[in-house]
Amino acid sequence: MEHYVNWIDGAAAPAGHTMPTANPYTGEAWAEVADDPAAVDTAVSAARAAFDDGPWRTMPATERASLMRRLGELLTRDAEALAVIESRDNGKIIRETTAQAKSLQSYLDYFAGMADKIVGQQIPSPSPNFLVYTERVPVGVVGVIVPWNSPLALLTWKLAPLLAAGCTAVVKPSDITPVTALLLAERSAEAGFPPGVINVVTGGAEVGAAITAHPDIDKITFTGGGATARHVARAAADNLTPTVLELGGKSPQIVFDDADPEAATNGLLAGIFAAGGQTCVAGSRAYLQSGITAEVIDRVVARADELVLGDPADVATEMGPAASDAQRDRILSMIDQARAEGATIAAGGVVDPELGGRFVRPTVITDVTNQTTIVREEVFGPVLAVMTFDTEDEVVGLANDSDYGLAAGVWTDDVRRAHRLARALDCGTVWVNTYRNVSYMAPFGGFKQSGYGKDNGLESLDGYLNTKTVWVELTGATRDPFVVG
Ligand code: NAD
Repeated sequence: MEHYVNWIDGAAAPAGHTMPTANPYTGEAWAEVADDPAAVDTAVSAARAAFDDGPWRTMPATERASLMRRLGELLTRDAEALAVIESRDNGKIIRETTAQAKSLQSYLDYFAGMADKIVGQQIPSPSPNFLVYTERVPVGVVGVIVPWNSPLALLTWKLAPLLAAGCTAVVKPSDITPVTALLLAERSAEAGFPPGVINVVTGGAEVGAAITAHPDIDKITFTGGGATARHVARAAADNLTPTVLELGGKSPQIVFDDADPEAATNGLLAGIFAAGGQTCVAGSRAYLQSGITAEVIDRVVARADELVLGDPADVATEMGPAASDAQRDRILSMIDQARAEGATIAAGGVVDPELGGRFVRPTVITDVTNQTTIVREEVFGPVLAVMTFDTEDEVVGLANDSDYGLAAGVWTDDVRRAHRLARALDCGTVWVNTYRNVSYMAPFGGFKQSGYGKDNGLESLDGYLNTKTVWVELTGATRDPFVVG
């Protein structure tokens, strides 16, 4: 059993209460971490002091950028070890956790490049007596709450822009995957970050709630489920703390008759079975045009049955287990409910007979409609619901008939149709003849109940900056003190 403690003010900080974290593949606890809501206050004080008095905000932006680049180098140096821990904690296959760990540096580099390009504007003055300009200033202390499915990647998506802006952070990783955030913070000290810039408090909902209710936090950025997001937004509202919410989805994948069936099949598989469907952008609703339906269903079912399930640490494994017992139970109960609502299980639908435990077989469900519960609610598991359509207008209506609006996939060889669909679909990302691409350069975030605000891209930096307007009187002229203008 390994032991980890919080990271506060540049040092390890033991906490009163602790909790175990388990390996979903073996089912065994492998580490113990802090779970102490009282630690949040100490972490916020450290982040506050580092913001108000510390050198992070006031140091030349180029220096801040150098430290961020150094942190990126250290994360790449240790990427393989971090990936092993990430897979151990959430059951995601090592190929993906390794690729994600190796991508972190590019996010830090990109936003480091922006740190010294944050500029205000000189505003035209209503009279020659004034100089008017704006400054872009960091919002302050940011509470960062992230989920378990891509712990380091999603954390870095938030840390990179907020650090570039000059903010400091109190981070809470998921209680299912608490360890790698601590290791990232440790490396920030090795990189030379001043104490208090990145603080990490591990634990469960109570620790998260202590962050969202804290009056000395200036902004909250949250990635997770919609139910939790409602708690976050309500608690933040009491202090009028602004929030960024990156939430779940029920993303449609639309395949037209003219699509390449092999490419579309690969895209459907990548959309729903990568990471065992435990990704916010899971393409969990497939709409197949009637002329291609039979061929694509046959291909998807055949490939689903062949996927290699097993130890996430083995590079040959294509799909790992659900991240927790609760997650597996939820997936199975939603499949049962679909059956009860008249669905046919064309593949999977059960726990793997050999592996057992948390391994739900890759599942393909047919005979469902937009009214079936499994087509409306996020499963967060390897379950693809397949429907058919005839016309473009019909499928746009079906795809947009969802509470969510995170992403969509469109498979077609008709370039005009591709752009028409991209325009018509009501969601934050549309992938055409591809799926699940993300980049530090491309804004990412949802519409509707998939949340608001953006991670990544130039736009995400705006979320961590305030605009301050400065008026300077240049002439010494007196003016009527009782008239605005
Ligand atoms: P979750 O909502 O259960 O937990 C997210 C985080 O919130 C965790 O750190 C958790 O400990 C914390 N938390 C729990 N209760 C809290 C409370 N009352 N106050 C404050 N914090 C609290 O989500 P999860 O199960 O960890 O992750 C899965 C969800 O995340 C899915 O819905 C998925 O779609 C979504 N997700 C979204 C994106 C995106 O970028 N849009 C990316 C990945 C995952």
